Amino acid sequence: MIHQINVKTKARTEMIDITEKVQAVVDEAGVKEGICYIYVPHTTAAVTINEGADPSVKRDILQTLQKLIPADAGYAHMEGNADSHVKSSTIGASTFVLIENGKLLLGTWQAIFFCEFDGPRHRRVAIKVISG
Ligand code: ZN
Repeated sequence: MIHQINVKTKARTEMIDITEKVQAVVDEAGVKEGICYIYVPHTTAAVTINEGADPSVKRDILQTLQKLIPADAGYAHMEGNADSHVKSSTIGASTFVLIENGKLLLGTWQAIFFCEFDGPRHRRVAIKVISG
């Protein structure tokens, strides 16, 4: 079974902590040891794992991406969101977390972030939990 998390983003560029929602899926699946795949089926969004404790970290990540991949840089894609596509591929559309004792095996400061690069939109995240 593939689970789905719905995310409603509020800004063009944003990182949203979805750790609790992903853990809720793992709880529902009842898997004590295994792997949790997190996949974003979008071309202008992404998913990553990084520090969730200090909000300035996600601000630094977004500001750095903006400097590296500016909104207007002579792109060929004429839809006006070429930077969003490049950011999406830079961060990546999927990640995974191991599951130990029914819990996502995250470090103390780690969180799972949905990354919006062309919001605001209604987005979804697909989750597959595998026991093993
Ligand atoms: Zn586009």
